[in-house]
Amino acid sequence: MVTDIPADTDPRELDRADPLARFRTQFAHDDDDAIYLDGNSLGRPPHRVRDAIMRVVDQEWRHELIRAWNHWIDLPHKVGDDLAASMLGARPGEVLIWDSTSVNLYKLASAVAQAAPKTRTVIVTDDDNFPTDQYILQGVAEQHNMTVRTIHSDIDHGVDPAALAAAVGKDTALVCLSHVAYRSGAIADMTAITEMVHASGALMLWDLCHSVGSVPVDLTASGADLAVGCTYKHLNAGPGAPAFLYVRQELQPQLRQPIWGWFSQTNQFDMSGDYNPLPGVGGFAVGTPGIMGVAAVEAAVELVSEAGIDAIRQKSLRLNAYASALVAAELTALGFTLASPADLEKRGGHLTVHHPQAWQIGQAMHGRYVIGDYREPDRIRLGFAPLYNSYSDIRSAVSVMADIVAKGEQDRFDPTPGRVR
Ligand SMILES: *Cc1c(COP(=O)(O)O)cnc(C)c1O
Repeated sequence: MVTDIPADTDPRELDRADPLARFRTQFAHDDDDAIYLDGNSLGRPPHRVRDAIMRVVDQEWRHELIRAWNHWIDLPHKVGDDLAASMLGARPGEVLIWDSTSVNLYKLASAVAQAAPKTRTVIVTDDDNFPTDQYILQGVAEQHNMTVRTIHSDIDHGVDPAALAAAVGKDTALVCLSHVAYRSGAIADMTAITEMVHASGALMLWDLCHSVGSVPVDLTASGADLAVGCTYKHLNAGPGAPAFLYVRQELQPQLRQPIWGWFSQTNQFDMSGDYNPLPGVGGFAVGTPGIMGVAAVEAAVELVSEAGIDAIRQKSLRLNAYASALVAAELTALGFTLASPADLEKRGGHLTVHHPQAWQIGQAMHGRYVIGDYREPDRIRLGFAPLYNSYSDIRSAVSVMADIVAKGEQDRFDPTPGRVR
């Protein structure tokens, strides 16, 4: 359980008692660094991720040349197993590092659509799911003569299990939801929802983009069938680093993905003409993996494992508790409202606030060296990265936000949101 942290607590005391404080130096910082509260969109670079990429370039690629493929070829499987064991609660041979989250979602949802009985023609998701998920599912449905049934979820409180239960039935092939909502951080009850979906005879696919590296996940215990997630948010593997996919062992023989590339071919180097996919999770590979990216994920996973996902979640809850107290004490009087579940246990690694001038306040924050991010409509997301954010960071960030609004500084910024936001 999380205990409240009063708003008037000295953040330096909290920092001194922080068992993860020593991890801050594992990341690249500059002297004039901004306070970075956007690690849930793009994690800060760990030194060892840079070192891993340079090792591939300067040693493996340079000296071994083509011969390096003798070990590179197994790397996406090995790193998938590392990730599975250290923070996903999955078994060896169930997780693969390959492609992007969007492409992996396409592969897994298409595999389910292909294998579904003729009577199951519906894919269920919610309108608060990340847009790429909604688009990919719409595309899969169109290609398989299926329909997408989109339930409404409250954008601040997440998916309503009762609304979901009412939308899932004998016609449903697949349910796809985010475990941690990208906007509000609301956590969905993975085990209860998966059980309900299974009771209807459908399969469950979880998007773990905002969970992995932040909230412990137990794919085996929750009964999840399939999952995808990215590695550049709480895992800090770098912009566009390859994503992962999870296929429950028992399902692997029944599912065949739609992109028949040579890296999923049995005896790939026989160069034979007929496609015969590998058994196991290797059947979900496609073409040549980006090894610099996979090596970056390997180093990033190692760093999170060293700290331990449970310790990360503990600190995340405490950072959130402190931030929530500060928001209540200092920001609500200035027109901010909480746009995340009030119960900390039901919130992932970030906290979202609403303000009618959120875009302009976000721009003013950048000018004052505090980086959060803006999300439609009128929301500012503050992501807390337990490996490099301190309680003092949060104290300073909230002071800056309060000062901006108290002085009306945001009025000097263009109210029209920019293209990248
Ligand atoms: C960040 C995110 C994605 C990103 O997908 P990409 O293919 O990496 O662009 C997908 N889903 C969710 C829920 C996300 O938060």
